[in-house]
Amino acid sequence: MPDNGILPPGSTIGVLGTGQLGRMIAMAAAQLGYKCHVFGPEDRSPATQVAATFAQATYEDEDALEAFAQVVNVVTLEFENVPLSAVEFLSARRPMRPGPRALEIAQDRALEKEFFNDIGVSTAPWAEVDGANSLIGAAPHIGAPSILKSARLGYDGKGQVFIDGDTQLEAAWQEMGAARGVLEGFVAFEREVSVIVARSMDGTVLPYLPVENHHAEGILRRTIVPAPLAEETALQAEEIAIRAAKELDIVGLLAVEMFVTSDGTVLANEMAPRPHNSGHWTLDAAPTSQFEQLVRAICGLPLGEVERYADAEMVNLIGADAEGWLTVLTDPGAHLHLYGKAEARPGRKMGHVTRLKPRAD
Ligand code: AMP
Repeated sequence: MPDNGILPPGSTIGVLGTGQLGRMIAMAAAQLGYKCHVFGPEDRSPATQVAATFAQATYEDEDALEAFAQVVNVVTLEFENVPLSAVEFLSARRPMRPGPRALEIAQDRALEKEFFNDIGVSTAPWAEVDGANSLIGAAPHIGAPSILKSARLGYDGKGQVFIDGDTQLEAAWQEMGAARGVLEGFVAFEREVSVIVARSMDGTVLPYLPVENHHAEGILRRTIVPAPLAEETALQAEEIAIRAAKELDIVGLLAVEMFVTSDGTVLANEMAPRPHNSGHWTLDAAPTSQFEQLVRAICGLPLGEVERYADAEMVNLIGADAEGWLTVLTDPGAHLHLYGKAEARPGRKMGHVTRLKPRAD
């Protein structure tokens, strides 16, 4: 192995998590001649179908984590709710990219918002709450309407309760169902955007352009590339993601979701130190996909070009949407991606479609 920190093709990338993001990491890694060894508790999941090798174990199983560490050259993750203990265990044995600190912050909405505010990035007004009484105490400071979110294990809008002036706060606390939460002011945003930034081992940062995201029931439905933003607002969004990636010392990717208000204010909402659903368009419309970029960053390779070939729209296929796959295939402008999930449960991301359009600029 060269001693310049570069992991050459032929090396093995360990991936924690076996969902669709892991699947697309493994496919990009294979294109560059790397092998992926994926780790997770479930079998027959999207990544296990395409990775070179697979270890089925829980994240608490230290024997399995030890065996995993022995056969990989670097570890990354596709799922940010991997227990911190597993990531700390692995980071003592192999390069863990991104590292435990980024993960610890991204796993907890209160730490995340505190981090953003500490580095000078604005968020919606928020307060940490740890019981019905603390919620009742915080509510007048945050104002109405607001959203109560579980501090941990929140994704795709789960564990969230909308609170308006009439909502019973005790009932909202029970409904949220977690021991700690954040109460957040409701932002009347004009649009939601995200920026994915790659950071390499030598500290080079390279953002993809801001994209606009449309959610329903807390789940991403559609991404529009690029987000229709004033240049200054787009730069501000990129700058927030770059600053966060630098401050977290990320090696790999960081995705930051933001709200943009009608006066051009950009507020950070949340972040994930991994590939992101809003970056799937890069597979078809950019010279380097977010998955390839992750492989490049964590293996010490030069980052790839991110300037898009085309404008694009990405639509998630959720639950029964995926039954329309044959129709999608007859659309000459559509790029179909299916994740190999057997069962189309409601709310489950089964695949996505990207349609390209000539660049407007
Ligand atoms: P999150 O899990 O924080 O990404 O929230 C899921 C979705 O709920 C976001 O993408 C927004 O569409 C909406 N949402 C979350 N927080 C707020 C907020 N403070 N104000 C308005 N909408 C929000």
